[in-house]
Amino acid sequence: MEYLSIENAMKQAKGNVKIRGWVYRERGSNKLRFIIIRDSTNIIQCVFEKDTFQERFEELKNVQIETSIEVEGIIKKDERAPSGFEINATNFKVIGESANFPIQKDQSQELLNDNRHLWLRSRKMNAILKVRSTIFGAIHEYFRSQGFYEFHSPTLQSTQSEGGSDVFEVKYFDTKLYLAQTWQLPAEAGIFSLENIYTIAPSFRAEKSKTSRHLTEYWHAEMEMAWADFDTIISHGEGLLKHVVSKVLETNKKELEFLERELDDLTATASKPFVRMTYTDALKILKEKCNLEVEWGKDLRTVEEDELSKLYNTPIIVTHYPKKVKAFYMKESANDTVLGCDFIAPKCYGEIIGGSQREENIDEIKSRLKEQGEDPKDYEFYLDTRRYGSVPHGGFGLGVERIITWICGLDNIRDSIPFPRTMVRYYP
Ligand code: ATP
Ligand code: MG
Repeated sequence: MEYLSIENAMKQAKGNVKIRGWVYRERGSNKLRFIIIRDSTNIIQCVFEKDTFQERFEELKNVQIETSIEVEGIIKKDERAPSGFEINATNFKVIGESANFPIQKDQSQELLNDNRHLWLRSRKMNAILKVRSTIFGAIHEYFRSQGFYEFHSPTLQSTQSEGGSDVFEVKYFDTKLYLAQTWQLPAEAGIFSLENIYTIAPSFRAEKSKTSRHLTEYWHAEMEMAWADFDTIISHGEGLLKHVVSKVLETNKKELEFLERELDDLTATASKPFVRMTYTDALKILKEKCNLEVEWGKDLRTVEEDELSKLYNTPIIVTHYPKKVKAFYMKESANDTVLGCDFIAPKCYGEIIGGSQREENIDEIKSRLKEQGEDPKDYEFYLDTRRYGSVPHGGFGLGVERIITWICGLDNIRDSIPFPRTMVRYYP
């Protein structure tokens, strides 16, 4: 007889079934043991009666949490059981013992972080990781359906693209390289071959501040397009988020329910046009509606992004930031602004996408590099993209863990990735 997943056994709903998994909870008396088993799909209560098992019943007393086990028995509906079904066991086989699983009642954050490799088995992580998998799939799906090619850039890079303070240096034989903060500079060379390209790859940032939004290693979904104007770039950001959120709503109802996620902003994101405003308008709204005064030219801080996000239930697209708060490659626009945009998530989840139209003027790029203390000589390969057949182009980067954190409604970005990396956490 074939093993069924718990989910499929429950679909079968009656008759004989054979399942396998890990002990999630166990309790009982001298006559009866209740063992809840989990697999990747669900949990189910199994009942073991002394009358059925006779002397083998003693074996069950050693079956502790996280023991791996196979169980055969008769499944039936039971409203009182945790997942609405129960298996009356007729046979079982212990596969791997488990003594004193380190995660018991005490679930302090520190303990869970130290035992991350074991905490992955929790129902919470199981739900988040399923949503995460949907999101990665949906990103690939969106770009491929829009005619983008997947393109790969090096993780070991010779230039620092996003500026100095948060870059990781790597000793590379007799020289020094940097871990990629973004794929962008090599990607700008790639569009001259493939025109529309995307990737999902790790980016690295030596974030020294402890926030609930920053990892030092995160997955970055990035796109770059030849012949594209600012509006096209923004529309793809909106289209991508709508597709991802719709896909999760369609695929992960059960997980969102388990995570107790209220869906108002997610359904709005999937169905309504996003709010758009310029940076200058954002300052006006912050002053009028939130009583927050920001001097023109200062970047929006977390508090300001959060207050703005409370006013709407879709992401907000803020455009035309002051030139001096944005990266050297963004195209200049009127009044000392650039054609750059940030997408801010609803419900105080912060920036989820940063994008821009790219500057084409080579002299402008060189002078902005110098202003940032960089030597344009180190960027010769990049400057070639402006020398040989330059075209209008642009792109954006989306922090995949940022949207997982938002979509799952998590308190901290740490729980959106299996093994989080922060300044203080790199084991396990
Ligand atoms: P922030 O101001 O929040 O640090 P940023 O301006 O440094 O973000 P970008 O350089 O525009 O971010 O990177 C593109 C996207 O990558 C961001 O919109 C965000 O979603 C994500 N991101 C940036 N830094 C991190 C990080 N340390 N951990 C997780 N995601 C990040
Ligand atoms: Mg940053």
